[in-house]
Amino acid sequence: MPETNTAFTNGYEFAQGAGYALPEYPFVEPPELRTGEAKRHAVAIVGGGITGLTLACALARYGVKAVLLDEDNTVGVKGASSRGICYAQKTLEIFKCLGIYERIAAKGVQWSVGRTFAGADEVYAFDLRQQQTHSLSRQPPFINIQQFYVEGFLVEQLCRAAPQDRLVDIRWSHRVTASSRTRISRRCSWKPRPAYSLEAEHVIDCSGSRSPFRAWCGATVTAQQGDDRWCIADVRFKNPPPVERHTWIEAPFNEGRAVWQHLMADGVWRIDYQMPPHANPKTSAARTWCAPA
Ligand SMILES: Cc1cc2nc3c(=O)[nH]c(=O)nc-3n(C[C@H](O)[C@H](O)[C@H](O)COP(=O)(O)OP(=O)(O)OC[C@H]3O[C@@H](n4cnc5c(N)ncnc54)[C@H](O)[C@@H]3O)c2cc1C
Repeated sequence: MPETNTAFTNGYEFAQGAGYALPEYPFVEPPELRTGEAKRHAVAIVGGGITGLTLACALARYGVKAVLLDEDNTVGVKGASSRGICYAQKTLEIFKCLGIYERIAAKGVQWSVGRTFAGADEVYAFDLRQQQTHSLSRQPPFINIQQFYVEGFLVEQLCRAAPQDRLVDIRWSHRVTASSRTRISRRCSWKPRPAYSLEAEHVIDCSGSRSPFRAWCGATVTAQQGDDRWCIADVRFKNPPPVERHTWIEAPFNEGRAVWQHLMADGVWRIDYQMPPHANPKTSAARTWCAPA
């Protein structure tokens, strides 16, 4: 397996200045390009998001070798806000098995109190610590952390061993552009560097909601796009609110529409504002939003 010179996320401060500074992983020439031969792999995972990286870590735990291909060269999404933020107990138990739970617990924020408001009235509240008395889990009910941290920890876990001993060959900047079934394998090609093919006993599609595999496989999908629009903001407060999840079903400061407020790592709060149906993202982004203190 080639040396990847992975830019580890250790020591990265993700939330600096105006946005997140995500790690960048280098492109490494794969053996297929060097030799011109279509190498055969046991498993090819397409997509290095949280699904693909978790799967790769789980396979490695069972000693299964895999090649993972991602079209991007980083975790998270460049230029975007946080995405997934809230990791529940069962997920945390899985991360414990995969060896990254301690890092998530150290970086993330535990919370247990949730409050729901309609206007100025609190209409519902819960405290998950009460439920914990009946739980046998060693993990808390929830930890909040930005998704790219979890992805970064998974990458580092996969790259902990010396390059020659790694079970998963992560290939950044490798876009899968085609996939076809042959008798016992699939053959894939990659762009924009010189295209090459590889074969795999199993190809696992983890390329997200816009996966091209459905078209390639001829799979039918029944999906509907709703008219719900959300403006997502990651902010820091000078006077931080309490470490509680707050939900407004009717927020007076958002024209009576919903707002979600969660604390994440680095003292960053994630505020989700529900927008009017069919809101124009360009004009919405230009508005000044005032988060509750
Ligand atoms: C703004 C926003 C906010 C969100 N908030 C939340 C939240 O609060 N809570 C929550 O649970 N979820 C949230 N989500 C959803 C969550 O981020 C997704 O469910 C999650 O990222 C799905 O993970 P995934 O690995 O399946 O797909 P993705 O994260 O989409 O990863 C797919 C990967 O595949 C790669 N890829 C795609 N096509 C190819 C190709 N042809 N070749 C090679 N690689 C390819 C991409 O580079 C990417 O790395 C949010 C999403 C967004 C956009």
